[in-house]
Amino acid sequence: MRTLIIGGGAAGLYLSTLVPYSIIVEKEPRCGRKLYMTGGGRCNFTHKATVPELLPHYNGNLPFIRKVLYSHTPEDIIRHMESQGIRAITEDDGRVFPETELSESVIMALMPETSRIIKGREAVSAVKNRGLFEVTLDDGQKLRTETLVIATGCSAACFPPYNGSGYNLLSSFGHTITDRHPALAPLRLERSISGAEGITTGIRIKAGRKEAEGDAVITHNGISGPVVLNMSRNVLDGDEITISFSDVDIKELRIREPKKLVRNAIDLPERLIRTLIGNLADKKIGNLSKDDERKIEENISAFRTRAWPVKKQAMTEAGGAILSEFNPVTMESKLVPGLYAAGDVLDVDADTGGYSLTWAFATAWCISRALML
Ligand SMILES: Cc1cc2nc3c(=O)[nH]c(=O)nc-3n(C[C@H](O)[C@H](O)[C@H](O)COP(=O)(O)OP(=O)(O)OC[C@H]3O[C@@H](n4cnc5c(N)ncnc54)[C@H](O)[C@@H]3O)c2cc1C
Repeated sequence: MRTLIIGGGAAGLYLSTLVPYSIIVEKEPRCGRKLYMTGGGRCNFTHKATVPELLPHYNGNLPFIRKVLYSHTPEDIIRHMESQGIRAITEDDGRVFPETELSESVIMALMPETSRIIKGREAVSAVKNRGLFEVTLDDGQKLRTETLVIATGCSAACFPPYNGSGYNLLSSFGHTITDRHPALAPLRLERSISGAEGITTGIRIKAGRKEAEGDAVITHNGISGPVVLNMSRNVLDGDEITISFSDVDIKELRIREPKKLVRNAIDLPERLIRTLIGNLADKKIGNLSKDDERKIEENISAFRTRAWPVKKQAMTEAGGAILSEFNPVTMESKLVPGLYAAGDVLDVDADTGGYSLTWAFATAWCISRALML
C-alpha cells in the first residue's frame, strides 16, 4: 500500500479525495463525527478572506501557518468543495457554509470513492523498518505502507474521552507534543451571574495580558459567545479574568444625569444590571455614596472572577505536535521521511469562524501535493 491515513475526520477525508487509492483507518464506527457537529450542524468549512486577514485568527507558529495557508487558500477550498459537488454560500461576516446548510452533505461529498476505509479500528502503534511503516490496529491487524499520515485530531468533544493515541503515534517517532489544554470553550465563573442567563451583550474580557472585545452570552454557570470562546485558550483552570460589561463613569453621569436611576443611565439590559449590582440599580445617580460608586464601577466595568474553561464543551485544543519538526510545504516530518501530519493533531488552534477547518484542509492539501508529485 502507498498511503495509509490514520483518522477519518476533516483532514483525513479531504486528503483522501485528493490521493486516490489510499486507505483510511478510523476508530469510530463512522467517519467525520466531529465534522458533523461543525457550525451547529451547518459546517462553517472556511472563511473567505486573504491570508494576511486570516493569520491573526490563528495561534501557533505564524510563519509556518502562513506558508500552509498560502499553499491552499479559502478560495482553493471553495473550488475543491465545488469539484466535490458542494456549492458554497458566504455570510456577510465571511463565514462559508455549504449551500445545503448541512454538515452531513459535506461529509458525503468528502467520502472517498476510490479509497478503502477501515472503520471501528484504532491505530495503536507504528514502527518503520526498511523503508516501510508497520501500523498495528487494536485487533492486532498489521498494515504496511510507504507513506503514513497522522490526521487523528485532538481531544476536544470526544466522548468517551480520547486516549491520545494519535499523539502517541507521533511521539513514538520522536515528535514533540506540547502541553495541551481546552480552547474555544465557554467559561464557568466563580462569581455567579446566572440571574442574567440568556442575555447577549458586548463585553471586553481580559485574561493575563490578553484583552478582547466582542459579543458574549450569559449562561447558567458562566459566560460564552464568540469573544469568550476565542479568549478561553488563555484561561487555565482557576485563572482570574476581568470582564467589562460597560465602561461606566459615575462622576460624569453625576454631572450629566443626577436625577436618573442607575438602571436607566447605564446602557445594558436591566436584568443584567440588577444581577451585577442588585438594589443599587434603583438608586438615583445623584444619591449614590462613594461606596455605591465603587461597587457599581467594579461590578459593571471591572467584574473580577476566577474562571474555568468548560472542557466538555471545548471545540478544540491548544497544543499538539510542534510545527517546526515538519516541512511547511509538504507537511512531511523532518525526523522520519514518509511520515506526515495534518489538522488538529498539530500545535495550532484558531478562532471560531471556519479557521480550524481551513487549517485541516490546507494541511491535507500540502500532503496531497507532495504525494502526487
Ligand atoms: C462542536 C464543534 C463545532 C465546530 N465547528 C467548527 C466550524 O464550524 N468551523 C471550523 O472551522 N471548525 C469547527 N470545529 C473544529 C473542527 O471540527 C476541527 O478543527 C476539525 O474537525 C479537525 O479536523 P481533524 O481531521 O484534524 O480532526 P477530526 O475531524 O477530529 O478527525 C480525527 C479523526 O481521527 C480519529 N482517530 C483519532 N485517533 C485515532 C487512531 N489512533 N486510530 C484511528 N482513528 C483515530 C478520530 O476518531 C476522528 O474521526 C468544531 C469543533 C467542534 C467540536
